[in-house]
Amino acid sequence: MGEQLERSCDVAVVGGGNAGLCAAIEARKAGASVLLLDSAPRPMRGGNSRHTRNLRAMHCEPTGVLTGSYDEEEYWRDLLRVTDGDTDEGLARLTIRGTVDALSFMSRNGVLLQPALSGTLSLARTNAFFLGGGKALVNAYYSSATRSGIDVAYDSEVVALHLDGLDVQRLDIVQGERQESIFPKAVVVASGGYQANIEWLKQAWGPRAENFIVRGTPYANGRVLRNLLDQGIASVGDPTQCHAVAIDARSPKFDGGIVTRIDCIPFAVVVDKMGRRFYDEGEDIWPKRYAIWGRLVAMQADQLAFAIIDSKARELFMPTAYPAIRADTIDELAQKLGLPEGNLAQTIAAYNAAVRPGRFDSSDLDECATEGLDPPKTHWARAIDTTPFFGYPLRPGITFTYLGVKVDESARVYLQSGRGVRNLFAAGEIMAGSILGKGYLAGFGMAIGTVFGRIAGREAARHVLS
Ligand SMILES: Cc1cc2nc3c(=O)[nH]c(=O)nc-3n(C[C@H](O)[C@H](O)[C@H](O)COP(=O)(O)OP(=O)(O)OC[C@H]3O[C@@H](n4cnc5c(N)ncnc54)[C@H](O)[C@@H]3O)c2cc1C
Repeated sequence: MGEQLERSCDVAVVGGGNAGLCAAIEARKAGASVLLLDSAPRPMRGGNSRHTRNLRAMHCEPTGVLTGSYDEEEYWRDLLRVTDGDTDEGLARLTIRGTVDALSFMSRNGVLLQPALSGTLSLARTNAFFLGGGKALVNAYYSSATRSGIDVAYDSEVVALHLDGLDVQRLDIVQGERQESIFPKAVVVASGGYQANIEWLKQAWGPRAENFIVRGTPYANGRVLRNLLDQGIASVGDPTQCHAVAIDARSPKFDGGIVTRIDCIPFAVVVDKMGRRFYDEGEDIWPKRYAIWGRLVAMQADQLAFAIIDSKARELFMPTAYPAIRADTIDELAQKLGLPEGNLAQTIAAYNAAVRPGRFDSSDLDECATEGLDPPKTHWARAIDTTPFFGYPLRPGITFTYLGVKVDESARVYLQSGRGVRNLFAAGEIMAGSILGKGYLAGFGMAIGTVFGRIAGREAARHVLS
């Protein structure tokens, strides 16, 4: 592969996840020669994208896999709500509209879709699921890419992009012991976020970040992003903002994927390491709240929390990778979870006493709420009284960071001076902060990556070929 890297190419794509693959495929289709570089070895290819399951897609009528309709305005309102308005309307609407065509692009390149699985955060209407998951999607794109003549270099970490005036002149690459340089005519950076770089996370989160678990690829070290920012590229997004969910504290430090997420929270009581509740577990339906729980757990002492349920809730959420810790009494559960004696029993007793009868509906906002409890539990509040009891230890599981490079509608990257870099484009998590200031909407990461990957690939090819 070393010799291949020395030859010239029109477009170099840095990162072989969803965004990079979409960019590479579009650039090649437009007639450019394309080299796709990824730090990971072949078996680990596909970055965070290989862990995904679905993409949020606008549609005006039912499709083969999506029910009902989900129009631009509803999609936009959902995004506005979760971001509290911290988004760029132009780029967001461009992404939303781009998802219509994204589905046919996916199927043209071998990605198969399926209807939502049961228990998947009630997404049947809004999100198209990938048959075989993100790994199958990534494999399909790699097949399509290599068939169309795209060169792929694994184990190839881009360590520097050399900016000269308004152009990137050179990329430096490390492949094990070897170092090489290439001179592409245009570059698409699609190297993901920097969530696997705990030292960088500590700059915003302090020592708390030591206890974060990285849900996806260990290769998202942010080296390309750091290199660009150090050369005066304009950044966007807040370093304290990220997508993070509550995951099982027993998960591996990297790459545990989707199965480590704990989805019982709406039906649980969640306590800190002192056995005290700290947030309304039933604030809203789970697809609109799961992404706040990583941050909530991160703010607790030692970044630890515990979800407590009883037998009534056992079948109401996605099965977990690790078995729940089980006990016949609350005190025994507290002891097994390492919580101070008596505190958990007190918390559960106070909660049970505050529960008011009402219609329970696990799939929609229901009437089961507490009264006179602080913090309240506003939905799905039922007494925790049916043995056996179960508990899950929770840690913050970081999915991706939001601080990234600023782009415009053509995915072009900018200098802090406001001038666009002529031959540099960005797609995916590395620019997601241009659209997601905070919050998250399930399936929107893949929407941004697919839509902006395609735009970046087309624009890079246009720059080279025009
Ligand atoms: C467990 C999990 C589940 C998720 N589920 C969903 C979902 O169902 N729907 C959804 O929309 N989003 C989901 N997401 C978020 C989604 O994965 C991302 O938004 C999306 O995959 C980002 O794509 P990307 O191409 O920008 O980054 P990635 O897929 O992470 O790809 C980046 C690539 O860049 C490479 N790289 C990094 N640095 C360098 C370098 N210096 N040189 C060369 N290569 C480099 C990496 O090896 C990697 O392959 C999930 C994330 C996780 C972790």
